[in-house]
Amino acid sequence: MTVKIGIPRGLWFYDYFPLWKTFYEELGAEVVLSNPTNKNLLDQGVKNTVDEACLPVKIFNGHVIDLKDRVDYIFVPKMMSVYEKEYICPKFCGLPEMVRHSVANLPPLIDTEINFNRSRKHIWKTVYEFGSYVTKNPFKIYRAYQQALLAYQDYKDKISQGMLPIDGFITPEGKQLKPKVKPNKKIALLGHTYHLYDSTGSMNIIKKLQDYGVEILIPEMINLKVINEKASTLEKKMFWSYGRKVLGTALYLKENKEIDGAIYVSAFGCGIDSVVEDLFERWTRKEGDIPFLLITVDEHTGEAGVNTRLEAFIDMIDWRNRDEGNLPAHG
Ligand code: SF4
Repeated sequence: MTVKIGIPRGLWFYDYFPLWKTFYEELGAEVVLSNPTNKNLLDQGVKNTVDEACLPVKIFNGHVIDLKDRVDYIFVPKMMSVYEKEYICPKFCGLPEMVRHSVANLPPLIDTEINFNRSRKHIWKTVYEFGSYVTKNPFKIYRAYQQALLAYQDYKDKISQGMLPIDGFITPEGKQLKPKVKPNKKIALLGHTYHLYDSTGSMNIIKKLQDYGVEILIPEMINLKVINEKASTLEKKMFWSYGRKVLGTALYLKENKEIDGAIYVSAFGCGIDSVVEDLFERWTRKEGDIPFLLITVDEHTGEAGVNTRLEAFIDMIDWRNRDEGNLPAHG
């Protein structure tokens, strides 16, 4: 019988989905995705998660609930670290425990630990453990892993060439929707991938910006080596992987005046955001003279308010570009 593995569309999904989908399909499993985030799924997540958790964790639990009655396993890895000497976030580290504590009547979770702070040998042990939910054959698992790495590299290449993950993998055909309006300005969009590319969680910000004629730059489109070089000039090493990426991007943008503005979408209740967004603003707006907008989102945020702020920000950029270059970076 084919093993059904449920993959929730949340947290690490937009970064690694092609890798895990390919891995499990190569092993002969059926990969079942949760539905795209909608109002009901969000409400379920909010109802079944502790109030203190950030919005992305609540959304993740909503996706787990969406999957739990139709699969044999749900994929909820314990992601400690994906770069040496760095960590992701305490909530990623304790995700399987949080899910078990929040959602009743779950099928078994695939909760293998991913920890790049351990040796390379340990990585193979990790891969084997992931694969062993479907087969105990190490050769099959190794081959599936190699195919998965190729699919992952292909995904990253496409993003670096301008594909936005939002549409690249959530449409069944895997097609990127083309913006209806021809871009006439370029804005950097910062935030956690699971926040930006989840159209409900981000209030569809990417689509809205595209409708305003904005070309979007995300950190994944900038050479990672360059980001890391910039981040390495920080006085103190940033040990959160996400923070390193965002701050390296801020330093790059400050020097390379290739954008008309920057928008940071922050998750209310995210400790990492509270530090990183402040530094990002300081380096881009105050030192780099780049117009900057901060949007903080939680489950109570009203879409009308976000629309008004976006519209005002775009207008300000247009004035600046047209004939009032002396406008300060905050409007
Ligand atoms: S990094 Fe922030 S937004 Fe992401 S899971 Fe952790 S607390 Fe939540």
